[in-house]
Amino acid sequence: MYECPNCGGNLKYDIKSEKMKCFYCDSMFDPYEVKDKRKVEEHTENLMTGDEDGMMQVTVYTCPQCGGEIIGDENEAATFCSYCGASTMMEQRMDRAMRPVRIVPFKKTKDDCARAYKSLVSKAIFAPDYVKDPQKIESFRGIYMPYWVYDFSKKGVINYPAKHTYQRGDYEYTDHYRVTTNADIEYKGLNYDASSTFSDTLSNAIAPFDTDGSKDFTTAFMSGFYADVMDVDASVYSDDAEDAAAKHAAERIAGEQRSRKYTISKDSVASSLNLSTDKSELNMMPVWFMSYRARDVKGEDRVLYSVVNGQTGKAAADLPVDVTKYVLGSAILALPIFALFNLFLVMTPLALLVLATIIMAVCGFIMLLEANSVADWETGAEDQGLNFSRNKERLKKEGAKPKKKKKDKAPVKTEAEIKHEEIRQAAMKESQKGNRLLFWISLVVAFLLCIIRPINDAYFYIGVILTGITDCLMLIGIMKNYNRLTMRPLPQFKRKGGDDRADISKDI
Ligand SMILES: [Zn+2]
Ligand SMILES: [Zn+2]
Repeated sequence: MYECPNCGGNLKYDIKSEKMKCFYCDSMFDPYEVKDKRKVEEHTENLMTGDEDGMMQVTVYTCPQCGGEIIGDENEAATFCSYCGASTMMEQRMDRAMRPVRIVPFKKTKDDCARAYKSLVSKAIFAPDYVKDPQKIESFRGIYMPYWVYDFSKKGVINYPAKHTYQRGDYEYTDHYRVTTNADIEYKGLNYDASSTFSDTLSNAIAPFDTDGSKDFTTAFMSGFYADVMDVDASVYSDDAEDAAAKHAAERIAGEQRSRKYTISKDSVASSLNLSTDKSELNMMPVWFMSYRARDVKGEDRVLYSVVNGQTGKAAADLPVDVTKYVLGSAILALPIFALFNLFLVMTPLALLVLATIIMAVCGFIMLLEANSVADWETGAEDQGLNFSRNKERLKKEGAKPKKKKKDKAPVKTEAEIKHEEIRQAAMKESQKGNRLLFWISLVVAFLLCIIRPINDAYFYIGVILTGITDCLMLIGIMKNYNRLTMRPLPQFKRKGGDDRADISKDI
């Protein structure tokens, strides 16, 4: 903790002034000049234990319900868990964590964050009212997220294949070239979140962070804020970062004036670059984070997250759709569209029936895709960081060291894949509830009508109404699964109960 030299009060980082501020006597100090009381102790401890540099002492809070861990201020009890949304007394312990190299301090204040969030939810007209609850907006918490930052560079000669095709008479000629270019490429600050608890979907949604705004790390910046624990190795995202840099460089090279007369494969340019990481360092990025619980259609507790980029103010949130609002809204919207169609477009009953049947088929297809996404979502298969930490846990249990790259999967079905399949089928069932039989009846009726072609239009209209009802029910089924994709299953993190770390907390 940082003590005010004037009055002994608690110093916290003040976003607006970019200084350490005493909230009792209003004194301001430079973040690099204040001294952490703890640091003196830490120094002597370092001498005693012989710990290497590059580590720092932190207060870690663990949620008794979900096992999520967050770094916080030692003299403020954490009574709320950001991961599972539980109001609970979090267990406190001292620990050591890797010291970040640089930090992007918060630029956006809590008020800025509230404004960004409000403007985001005001656009979500079908969202349930509870997302706009002012009390929830008040609960946004400033959290520094650990990020791996990669730099790439390439200076020197590269060569890649190119071709030029032209027509002469009846023949087409293709000349093949090998292009040699001098490359001078530099990428700085590609960043990926290094916390398995911070979902990739959210971190991507509020990306990017501009590392030009970063400063040399000092714990003073963290005073008054929370921080996530780094638990994902730098190797997890290095391939992604390399691919992104190479792809971008290849696009630039292929787009250059003198490249235009040739046909160039961007992939071969990218691989000719042969980029490799110059550096991967741990940085801290500012994120305003809010979480709360809500019930899903099945009455199960789920957690919803909202995040705002603390540097740029970009906001993203899990926004479910209120099915009642959606149905009403769509009906109101559909009426004028229908009226407009009637004015300008004359559709035969047969065409109408075909259209309704096509919509039905599209809905069915969306259901298939959606069920797969639901299974990805519930099992966390889409999150690289989460997968990494799970793999690490699993391998630890089996007594092996984690492999750096896990690209090729074993052909045997793993437990996770079986679970994935179960959830996928359950999601399919859920969205087909109440419309499965209707779907087949409508399909058969539509098919028969197309063959028989009755003279009386009334038969067609009956078919259209039947198919139309099925369309609506299918859309509601899709909406229900969509909502599952906006509400997260309550997280369950590793280290439940007594493990090797539990002993440390007892001493403190
Ligand atoms: Zn003071
Ligand atoms: Zn929790």
